[in-house]
Amino acid sequence: MGNKLCVQNALNWSIFNCVIMKSKEELYRFVIDYFLKTLPFADTELHYANPYELLVAVILSAQCTDKRVNLITPDFFMRYPNAYELSEATVEEIYGLVKSCSYPNNKAKNLLGMAKVLVNEFNGTVPSDIDLLQRLPGVGRKTANVIASVVFHKPTMAVDTHVFRVANRIGLVKNAKTPLAVERQLMENFPQELIPKAHHWLILHGRYVCTARNPKCNECGLNSVCLEYKKLSKKTKKTKGT
Ligand code: SF4
Repeated sequence: MGNKLCVQNALNWSIFNCVIMKSKEELYRFVIDYFLKTLPFADTELHYANPYELLVAVILSAQCTDKRVNLITPDFFMRYPNAYELSEATVEEIYGLVKSCSYPNNKAKNLLGMAKVLVNEFNGTVPSDIDLLQRLPGVGRKTANVIASVVFHKPTMAVDTHVFRVANRIGLVKNAKTPLAVERQLMENFPQELIPKAHHWLILHGRYVCTARNPKCNECGLNSVCLEYKKLSKKTKKTKGT
């Protein structure tokens, strides 16, 4: 993932594209064109080789960085290569392998519960259906959407903290106070075939450019259309009395 390249591309894009948005459709078009150009190969940064491994990695990634999860999972997958092996572990054994990530107690319990349900109800195979996925301990709507999208290429939009923040800041969603409201509006407006990619675009943009604190607005290729940037610019002008 060329994220440094992404920032440089973003800067170039910003210089060559300064537009006044007239409609939601134009805003989405601009954002899509920008990301197609700057992040054409956006994908998850979690390391995995099969649906089971991604499910474990996504459960571990709650409130934890992908980098940290990628340090934990090689040993984890060596010890528990599938749901059957994991279902026979104890919480204490799992805890020993995941203790360096956040909430290790809960995650150890959920991982064991998840493996048991996979074995007992799904023959050890990760289901592709969002509702079935949510029957697994530790799997909420967001995780189910990630699995359905990344593994099974379904048009689902997982809204995590980055997606929620970036979509609101840019103005891709209006009055969307909950992750579900953001998910619905993004699903309505991104073309279906781009939805899995759009999820990664917004995550990566939030992780490397539009960070929660000190977003890199001056380097951001979306600043010419961004709602938050317009608000900040107005405030700055007022403060300066111009
Ligand atoms: S201009 Fe700033 S607030 Fe807007 S998307 Fe870019 S980094 Fe985020």
